[in-house]
Amino acid sequence: MFEYFRPTLQAPSLDLISIEQLTRDGIKGLIIDLDNTMTPWNDIEVGPKVAEWFVKVKSAGICACVVSNNSKRQRVAIVAERLDIPFVFGATKPRRRAFRSGMSLLGTGHKDTAVIGDQLFTDILGGNRLGLYTILVSPINDREFIGTRVMRRMEKVLVWLMKHFAPVKPFSPKIH
Ligand SMILES: [Mg+2]
Repeated sequence: MFEYFRPTLQAPSLDLISIEQLTRDGIKGLIIDLDNTMTPWNDIEVGPKVAEWFVKVKSAGICACVVSNNSKRQRVAIVAERLDIPFVFGATKPRRRAFRSGMSLLGTGHKDTAVIGDQLFTDILGGNRLGLYTILVSPINDREFIGTRVMRRMEKVLVWLMKHFAPVKPFSPKIH
């Protein structure tokens, strides 16, 4: 069961994910979470480092899309349009349907798509259920939707369990 919650990689933030490594690993499409991964929760501001990272992603020939559980279409659309990438809103991650929609927007498949997000129970679990490459980032800040705060407590318990009961592959994915 733990393998469903174990990301392929872990990075401190979106802009610190190595594009060279993604290219080396054959990644051609990125399905990226919005809240607390691209922008602070419920915010439309994309920081300059994140914007710059998206420019590099594009010039490396990698496509990206936003897949967000946020149900406000307008808010998800504003951020996606600023970055000139497609989006899916109201995604109900970890259900697989939205990840499949993301892959069809990107024109990529199971082998060359990565999922990036800040939550184990939605982004990482959903991506791993489809056998995709998954990258866990630390949340931008601790302002969150109330339901997410409850999930964070469960994440802490899960990470503890993984550390203590899955020692063969400890919860220490590569940090680059
Ligand atoms: Mg998030």
